[in-house]
Amino acid sequence: MPHSRPQSVVVIGAGVTGLSAAFHLVEKGVERVVVVDKGGVGGGSSLQSGGIITMLLGAETPIRARAVSLDLFERFGRILDGYEFHQVGCLNLTPREVFDQGAPTRELQKTLGGRFEVLRGQEIRERFPDLRAADDDHGTLDLRGGYSEPHRYIPALRAKLEEMGVEFREHEAVTGFDVRGGRVVGVVTGRGVVEADAAVCAVNAWANHVLSLAGFRIPYKNFVHERFVTKPFPEPPRLPAVNDHILDGYVRPTDDNRILAGTSAHNPWSHDMGGPDFHVGQLEPDPRALPFIRENLVKRAPMLEGAEWDYSTVGLISLAYDVQPVIGPVPGADGLYVGTHFHSGGFAYNPVSGLLLAEHVVDGGTRFDTDIYRPDRFARVDVGAFLSEPIIHDDMGRVRH
Ligand SMILES: Cc1cc2nc3c(=O)[nH]c(=O)nc-3n(C[C@H](O)[C@H](O)[C@H](O)COP(=O)(O)OP(=O)(O)OC[C@H]3O[C@@H](n4cnc5c(N)ncnc54)[C@H](O)[C@@H]3O)c2cc1C
Repeated sequence: MPHSRPQSVVVIGAGVTGLSAAFHLVEKGVERVVVVDKGGVGGGSSLQSGGIITMLLGAETPIRARAVSLDLFERFGRILDGYEFHQVGCLNLTPREVFDQGAPTRELQKTLGGRFEVLRGQEIRERFPDLRAADDDHGTLDLRGGYSEPHRYIPALRAKLEEMGVEFREHEAVTGFDVRGGRVVGVVTGRGVVEADAAVCAVNAWANHVLSLAGFRIPYKNFVHERFVTKPFPEPPRLPAVNDHILDGYVRPTDDNRILAGTSAHNPWSHDMGGPDFHVGQLEPDPRALPFIRENLVKRAPMLEGAEWDYSTVGLISLAYDVQPVIGPVPGADGLYVGTHFHSGGFAYNPVSGLLLAEHVVDGGTRFDTDIYRPDRFARVDVGAFLSEPIIHDDMGRVRH
């Protein structure tokens, strides 16, 4: 059957993925876009995010996708009032042996448009005086990478969407789908039915609570993740965003001269959110996380020695069975699309994940091959068995930001 272009779309979830999808849907000519969230805009994990961005991932589709994200972050920096993409670089640090095995990946990254420099211990210290690195530490510095402040990006994107005519319905949970002739023609909330030609599910950690209402489930696990922010320093910290695979964490400067640091090192087990009413405000940072950062990440950023910590945020990262995002049409539910499970990199993905969702919805396909993200790829997985057992993060595989 030929793909029909929808005139109206309802987006479930007002995190960065849903907001970005709404943006691209309007840009692609959808006349009415409604965003529905059971809480407030950004109030899932998006406002908790570290906001670190790089395109130096390990496989072709993710590298291509992140390259588009970088283009879009640069564009958003020009068109969103109050938002700046801080392209201070993103240094991806790995132990020597991992770095040596990564030569083919670096070739691929280069072929796909990555602009990066390889830096070793002394070069890292010279380039970034507030970073410490051992002589044998190796890193690839993504020259187009960096960070965004989620608390500036999200309100700026929301304001742009309102200007573009997107309708927001906050504090309104989706509790069902209106299905006619096997096609989703609206979503059911406590306040009635929101009719639309198509629906996009962008609820990430809550995915199965919503998708199971349409008879579909994804094998995924959620993990608690937190970040900590120091009080401001008198001078801007001289460091890029750092994904640190050696010391098992990440650090970056903030736009107001602080250091932001995070780790998952002490939180290995998957988290069961219970029911659909779960909200991230119920989470507490793991009490072992900040001591870990104090002891370990201080070896990377000596400014953290004796630093005063100001605040922390905590949310969920969500990993599909094969630790790749899930983006595309929902099997068995015509008119319903899903974009979820961006591991710990959903902020960096959001511009492109929203674009790919909009392309699926409006065009019936994406600008480059995104088959590895297809929601129907889990047909051979025993989803029930996977969902019923807790799992350790590293047993699934780790992809940072
Ligand atoms: C501490 C921390 C640090 C992170 N650091 C980084 C980083 O440096 N770089 C990076 O790229 N990523 C990072 N991430 C990951 C990133 O934050 C997430 O992948 C991303 O925010 C997911 O966005 P989302 O829009 O898909 O989901 P969310 O922001 O979680 O939004 C989902 C929304 O769905 C809504 N919802 C749920 N159920 C319903 C329902 N039934 N009806 C209506 N609405 C519903 C929720 O209220 C929520 O607002 C970090 C995450 C955490 C927790």
